[in-house]
Parts: sequence; C-alpha cells; structure tokens
Amino acid sequence: MNVDKIMNDLEKKHPGEVEYLQAVREVLESIEDIYNENPQFRSANIIERLIEPDRVLIFKVPWTDDEGNVRVNLGYRIQFNCAIGPYKGGLRFHQSVNQSILKFLGFEQIFKNALTSLPLGAGKGGSDFSPKGKSNAEVMRFCQSFMLELWKYIGPETDVPAGDIGVSGREIGYLYGMYKRLKGAHTGVLTGKGLNWGGSLIRPEATGFGAIYFVQEMLAIKKDTIKGKTISISGFGNVAWGVALKATQLGAKVVTISGPDGYVYDPEGLSDRKIEYMLELRASNQDIVRPYAEEFAGAEFHAGRKPWEVKVDIALPCATQNELNAEDAKKLVGNGVMMVAEVSNMGCTPEAIDEFYANEVIFAPGKAVNAGGVATSGLEMAQNAMKMRWTRHEVDERLLQIMHNIHEQCLKYGRRDDGFIDYVKGANISGFLTVANSMLDMGIV
Ligand code: NDP
Repeated sequence: MNVDKIMNDLEKKHPGEVEYLQAVREVLESIEDIYNENPQFRSANIIERLIEPDRVLIFKVPWTDDEGNVRVNLGYRIQFNCAIGPYKGGLRFHQSVNQSILKFLGFEQIFKNALTSLPLGAGKGGSDFSPKGKSNAEVMRFCQSFMLELWKYIGPETDVPAGDIGVSGREIGYLYGMYKRLKGAHTGVLTGKGLNWGGSLIRPEATGFGAIYFVQEMLAIKKDTIKGKTISISGFGNVAWGVALKATQLGAKVVTISGPDGYVYDPEGLSDRKIEYMLELRASNQDIVRPYAEEFAGAEFHAGRKPWEVKVDIALPCATQNELNAEDAKKLVGNGVMMVAEVSNMGCTPEAIDEFYANEVIFAPGKAVNAGGVATSGLEMAQNAMKMRWTRHEVDERLLQIMHNIHEQCLKYGRRDDGFIDYVKGANISGFLTVANSMLDMGIV
C-alpha cells in the first residue's frame, strides 16, 4: 500500500472532506505494515473497498417551527460497511453536520465496532438541525419528518441507528415513535430507547462508564489506579456525565467541564450533588456551564478558553472532533499530564497526538476508549432479540469485560519492543484485521 497515493486519489474524489480524509489517513498509516505483509488484502483491493462507504443517503427534512414557518434541513445516513453485522452507529443533530463529518464518524465506526467483538457493521447519520434552543414540539416535528424518510432504509437486521451529539433519549423517543407507526411493528430498530419500551439499563451512561473502565486498564499497566487522580473533561453531554459520575465514584477528582463558550474550573472537583444539579439543567434544556460557576463557590468560569490549560493527571476530551490541538497538547505536556484518552470521536488533532507521543504521554484513541457506548447498544439489540431485560449488574459486567477485551486487543497489536503501548496502532490493526478477513471470506461483494 502506498498511503500517499491512496490519499491523493481520495482527495481528488472528495475534495474538501477534511475530517473524513484525516480519519482515513490515520488508519492507513497505522495498518500499512500489516497490510503489506499480507498480499491477500492487496489482491482483493480491501483498502479501496474499505475507505468508501457502501452508500450515502441524503434527503431533505421539511418541518414547521412554532411560529408556523416552514423550515428545511438536510438528513443523512452513511451506510459504511456491513461485513460483520448490520450497519450500526449514531445520529448527530448539530448545525455543523455535513457529509465529511458523518463519513469520518462512519469510517471510525468500522474499527470501533469490530473492537467490541460484537456482530456490528458501521454507519452514521444525522442532520444539520440543532435541537438546542428548539421547543419539544419543534424537536418532535423535526424527528418525525426525519424518520418519514429514513425508515425505508433501516431495520433490526439491516441498519440500527442510535444517539450522538444532539440526540439523546428525547430524540430517540420521537424517532422511534414515528418508525413504529410507519412500520406497524415494535422491531427495536433504534438503540438508546427508554427503559419502558425496550431500552437497556446502563445505556445512557455506557460510553462514559466504558471510557473510565478503559482508563483503569491503561493505568493498571503502569501499576497505578484512578483513585486520587485529577481529571479534566470537556463538554457536559451524554458521554461527559457518565465519565464524571464513574470517575467520581472511583475516587478521582474531575475539575473541569466546558461548553462552546468556555470552561469551568472547580478545584474541589465534581460531586454526585453537582452532577445531579447539571443533569437537572440539561433535562430542562438550560445552559450548564456558566450557571454551574454561579451556583458553586470556588468554581471559576473562563470565557472563550478550553480546559486543557489546567494542570491535571489525566485529560479526557468528551465534546467533539479536533477539540484538542497541538497548542493545547503542549500546555498539557508542560503541566505534566500523564495520560490522555479521547472519549469524543477523533477529539485530538494529529499534531496533538504527535506531541503526546513525542513526550511519552500515554494516549488512547476514541475508537477504543468510547466503544462502550456502541457495545452496550449491541447488548440492547441482544436483549430486544431475546425479548428479555438484563439487570443493571449483568449489563455492567458485560461492559466491563468488553472494555477489558478491547484493551487486550490494543496490547496485542500495539505493544512496541521497548514496552511503549501504541494504542492508536493497536486499535486500528485489531479492528482492521477482523473486518478485512471477514470481507475476504465473503468474496467480492
Ligand atoms: P452531547 O450533545 O450530549 O454533548 C456534547 C457536549 O459538548 C455538550 O455539553 C456541548 O455543549 C459540548 N460541546 C459541543 N461543541 C463544543 C465545543 N466546540 N467546545 C466545547 N464543548 C462543546 O453529545 P455526546 O456526549 O453524545 O457526544 C460527545 C462526543 O462523544 C462526540 O464526539 C460523539 O461522537 C462521541 N460519542 C458519543 C457516544 C454516545 O453514546 N452518545 C458514543 C461514542 C462517542 P452544548 O450543549 O452547550 O453545545
């Protein structure tokens, strides 16, 4: 494989799709050696078949706002790869959504889903509609219109969407209600459902819990534990609150949260009561970050800044892609950070990752760290298929085991001769081998 040639060809075909091209290059660079050692991949043109999605669905989503104005957004579903199972991946509703972002997320999902060892193919979707600032009725009308088109292309054995940025329990409820009405059947097609109608215990907090289980595995290699560590996180959404809750329960001190307009530094750290307070604000669609600083003595709001300037042991980006750049990485390194694990997808820029590697900061990529979310979606699908519900303890045990196994895969393919663990390489190679070998087994399809 010649990475530069493949990337040049891909750039010509998809000019300007910056995030997608970034994600593909990162994977190709880390699997290059193993690919070239196995000529069967070359002869089946596995890479050329893997880097393009199976199909890209784009549709318009007309809806009416509360003032009676007719609005139009774009809806997408990228069905990327189904070698090991039905397409699986979240829906993102945010004004920044475009084809490049959804293709990068769908591509990453291939390797992440394979790492879980569950039979899950890869997809992603969403819209440039942002629920923030919209009424419940507006969000419902939008979700119903979105599903009016999407339902034709999804199903429990073909494509199973879930949540992502801007899509939580409320949106999944409206989407599922419309799907059920159109289909005339309770098929369990979405994950992240409400507990009363097919959802799984632990799913809402699974991405965050899984991330902390993974961090514990990383620390264990260093004969260390999370207890007493200071942690900075960004955002305070679906995944960040699970991270904050589990880390706090395990005795770590989470000292930051953030939003697009700045961050809060709380030297005392989050507590169950503070997390509860933020969840109440979130549930009623209110801003979290500034009100937090006003509510709790000692907490400081830093407008227009990012949490990566705070001195911590562990940094966990939890908000969005490329949210931590080289400059941020230099600040973290300068302050003696020991570990950085992406909970957001592609949370760090390539230059930031180079900075961590150059300074021997232990770094792990989102596709390994945040895989607990999709894994628990897989567990929700299994429970739906069996018409059963596992207890909280059963789901949590399975999640813990899956995160342990993912870590083992990273060690197997990422441990260097000098003992340093290249988690990026480990995760990419493991995921690639599972999917590429499955594609070989099935011929040219
Ligand atoms: P949410 O929408 O629930 O939360 C995102 C959070 O990040 C919000 O607090 C948001 O603030 C904040 N935010 C958004 N943009 C910025 C920015 N530019 N700077 C700082 N903060 C920002 O999304 P999720 O928690 O679901 O997703 C977060 C990340 O985790 C994404 O990368 C997603 O792909 C990834 N992920 C999510 C999974 C899931 O199960 N939901 C599974 C695996 C990965 P505000 O609300 O004020 O905009």
